[in-house]
Amino acid sequence: MASARALLGEATARDDLARLTALPWRGVLSPSGLTANVRRWCPHCYRQMRTRHGECWDPLSWCLAPVTCCPVHARALAMHYPGCGVVQPWLPHDTVVGWCAECGADLAAARPEADRVPLPSRRIWTARVCADLCAAGEAVARQPSRAATPRDFSHAVRHLVDTLGDGNRSAFARRIGVSVHSPSRWMATGTVGIESLLRLCMQLGLHPIQFLLRSGDLPVGPREVRAPPRPRRRSPIDWDRIDA
Ligand SMILES: [Zn+2]
Ligand SMILES: [Zn+2]
Repeated sequence: MASARALLGEATARDDLARLTALPWRGVLSPSGLTANVRRWCPHCYRQMRTRHGECWDPLSWCLAPVTCCPVHARALAMHYPGCGVVQPWLPHDTVVGWCAECGADLAAARPEADRVPLPSRRIWTARVCADLCAAGEAVARQPSRAATPRDFSHAVRHLVDTLGDGNRSAFARRIGVSVHSPSRWMATGTVGIESLLRLCMQLGLHPIQFLLRSGDLPVGPREVRAPPRPRRRSPIDWDRIDA
C-alpha cells in the first residue's frame, strides 16, 4: 500500500515532500507519540504570514505532539476556533489554511487558552528545539547520510551511561528521570520516543539535534545550548514545581 507521502507526492507532482515531514529522523525517532492528534495553530503567526506573504501555512513543528506553544511568539497554540468549537482537520479539502473548515471564520482571531499568561520555560524550550529539528530535517532530507542511525544512537546512550552513570543503567535512568528500563531499551533498539529524547536532553543540557545528526562524538554532560530551562540540574525534574 502506498504511503501518504507517496500519494501526496503523486497528486502534487513533488518528489521532495519528505522535507515537510519528520521522515528525515525516522531512523532514531520512534513514530509512536511523534505527532499531535489534533491540528494546532498560532493566531499571531497567521496574522504575520498574511501581512508579510499574503497567505498562511502550518509549520511542521506545530504538528509535533510535545509542541504546545509557538516557538516564535512563546504563546499557546490554538486547538479549536471558539466561534464554532470545531477541531480543524489535518487536510481540509475545500478551505484555505488560516480559515475555519467548518464555518469559514478567521483562525487568526482565535484566542488560545492562557494566551496572556507567561508559559513555563520548559514548554518554550520544547517548542524551540523542535522547530530547530524541523529546520535541520530539511537539510537532512537533501543529504540523508547526515542523519544518525539507530546504531549511532545506541552508542551515544551507552557512552552517556558509562560516563555519567558509571555504567549503571538504573542510576543513569534515575538521574534523567525516566523508567529504569528506558536506557536498556534505547540501546537495544537504537530508537527513542520524542518525549523521552526531550527529557533526556533537558536533564543533561543537550540539544536533541546532537542525537539525531552524525556530527562526531557526543559531548558529555551539560554544555551551553539554546535556552534549556535547567541545563545543570542533576536530579529528576519536578514538573509541578517548575510549572507553578
Ligand atoms: Zn507564532
Ligand atoms: Zn468555525
